[in-house]
Amino acid sequence: MKLLENYIQQFGTVLSDGVLKVDTFLNHGIDPKLMVEIGKEFAERFKKDNVTKIVTLESSGIAPALMTALSLDCEIVFARKRKSLTMIDHLYSANVYSFTKQQSSEISISKDLISGSDNILIIDDFLANGQAALGLIDIVNQSGASVAGIGIVIEKSFQPGRENLEKNGYRVESLARISSLEENKVSFVQDTTENYTFKH
Ligand code: 5GP
Repeated sequence: MKLLENYIQQFGTVLSDGVLKVDTFLNHGIDPKLMVEIGKEFAERFKKDNVTKIVTLESSGIAPALMTALSLDCEIVFARKRKSLTMIDHLYSANVYSFTKQQSSEISISKDLISGSDNILIIDDFLANGQAALGLIDIVNQSGASVAGIGIVIEKSFQPGRENLEKNGYRVESLARISSLEENKVSFVQDTTENYTFKH
């Protein structure tokens, strides 16, 4: 998605060879117009998949997931990282090792919010090693629902997330695919959005 690549080049900061900061439009500040376009692009890619619900992870997955839900005209639910007083039990939970926080935490979704008849599109902001996506898949599997695919805003293709998901049979659609963050420079996988097709 060219617009997203332009945002990354213009506003992204390379923190190290493995971490990109995009706090002005995705992870802290949120650019509404970009989110609308992201929603339309994910909807275009998954429009034939009969998605009934989008599942994401708080907090940075919520904006792109919400816009996608609007475009696909489906429901959305986000997994919580901290249990609130109103979320005591009756939960599907999974353990996720956080790439940015370098620690494990439990993520949860109420059993009332996903059912075995759902066909779920998982959306997240970044794909690094795939741990967040695998945790969300674990929760979806516990509910008996099916996974339509995984939509990622920014994939770091030099890390093993895509491979870890595809080897388990999941379809991954990423709107920007970064091939390298070396030498303080963002490089993209060529023809990111146009030529990539998932092979079953
Ligand atoms: P994974 O679970 O695939 O290893 O990492 C994905 C999660 O870690 C995302 O939900 C995102 O919050 C965070 N993350 C991974 N890499 C980056 C990065 O380079 N920049 C930012 N801002 N977050 C990242």
